[in-house]
Amino acid sequence: MISRLLIANRGEIAVRIARACRELGIEVVAACSTPDRYSAVAEMADEAVTIGPAAPRHSYLHVPNLIEAALRTGADAVHPGYGFLSEDPDFAEICDKEGLTFVGPPPAVMQQMGNKATARRLMADAGLPLLPGVVEPVRTAEEGRAIADEIGYPVIIKAVAGGGGRGMTVVTSPGDFAEAFTSTRAVARAVFRDPTVYVERYLTRARHVEVQVLCDAHGSGISLGERDCSLQRRHQKLLEEGPAGHLSPERREELGTLAVRGALSVGFTGAGTMEFLVDEAGAYFMEMNARIQVEHPVTEMLTGVDLVREQLLAAGGRRLHLRQEDVVPRGAAIECRINAEDPTRGFAPAPGHLDELRPPGGPWTRFDTGYRQGDDVSPHYDSLLGKLVVWAPDRDQAIRRMDRALAELRVEGPGVRTTVGLHRALLRHPDVRADSHDIEFLDRALPDLL
Ligand code: ADP
Repeated sequence: MISRLLIANRGEIAVRIARACRELGIEVVAACSTPDRYSAVAEMADEAVTIGPAAPRHSYLHVPNLIEAALRTGADAVHPGYGFLSEDPDFAEICDKEGLTFVGPPPAVMQQMGNKATARRLMADAGLPLLPGVVEPVRTAEEGRAIADEIGYPVIIKAVAGGGGRGMTVVTSPGDFAEAFTSTRAVARAVFRDPTVYVERYLTRARHVEVQVLCDAHGSGISLGERDCSLQRRHQKLLEEGPAGHLSPERREELGTLAVRGALSVGFTGAGTMEFLVDEAGAYFMEMNARIQVEHPVTEMLTGVDLVREQLLAAGGRRLHLRQEDVVPRGAAIECRINAEDPTRGFAPAPGHLDELRPPGGPWTRFDTGYRQGDDVSPHYDSLLGKLVVWAPDRDQAIRRMDRALAELRVEGPGVRTTVGLHRALLRHPDVRADSHDIEFLDRALPDLL
């Protein structure tokens, strides 16, 4: 078992990991950049070490500094959280070499799932349905156009290394293909240091449904139900919920089975997510996230399973103690990502000093944050202030509870703006109330919601 763990992350997920460690009796080392040296997680930890200045490439992305910090503080494991180095197989491999348990799947699995084209090929081999498209990189615009002609428009050009909704371009007609191809490669090269792209069919009026899986290192895996993450701005999730009420029981069961089969087929271990696009005609594998996700608390609320605890146990080599029949999702849960952004100014980051931060309370209401009143929200990192999560016996009550909790949440400070107003407007929209929205809904409806 793990006895002392270095958290190679910051903010709410660092606090979340520290809490799970505390409850398991694992000692916590917080790796902090200089401005985070007195953050909430540093305060909670048994030991806090500075790993570099604010800029992520000198701290949370700086592998030698993190490894050195882990070894110097006597840690025997490293949790990468999400973002930063969580999907970097080289980091996982260096941890292994240094005798540190990396809390995540084997590096080879990270490598495979980190490449969207390879992931498509492997999941097709495992019998998962894919959208029409290729599983090999597309080298030239001519080649891409020929593929697009064959599968039919609209298509989407995607960076194999893409993430966070970036490195994707939808193309609706052949005349736009060449330019989109060139610009997507340029973005992919600049942002992900790999220009490789592939092409697949773009599904309109679809829903984003993802299945949480948990696998041990002994070949067992279970699914923990699904989340619907169709409320997205520019392919980035803003509000997630579970269960996906629009799924038939048969389709839900099928997705759970496919997700576990796909994950086990590549030797995945720990907590991961299989993402699907779903429309009336079918469900199609989109990608796998081989790490804990931002929206994991939705599943925790529905199932009562502490996913970070399970992830730590699996990384320590323990066999899954849950059987598939032990997992019975109940009721409905919603998560709002409360970002320090100004929706009226193109979602520009709006960080600053938190004069006031008062989380809501009450029944089945959870607020995960890495900030305390009086902290500064740094412009160096992502704008996630906290995640507000509620549970209720059904979706309608969960929406009411979320609205009540959003109204209670107080975030004030010079220059600080949040997405709270947008979340409240979204939850009042008739399409969201009726659960009839699709992944393009928010981009379409945004002008009316602000
Ligand atoms: P990332 O890794 O950047 O999050 P994903 O592959 O998960 O990228 O896609 C993010 C979002 O983009 C999806 O949730 C969906 O809304 C949209 N998307 C991706 N591929 C398609 C597709 N083939 N058809 C329609 N929408 C898509």
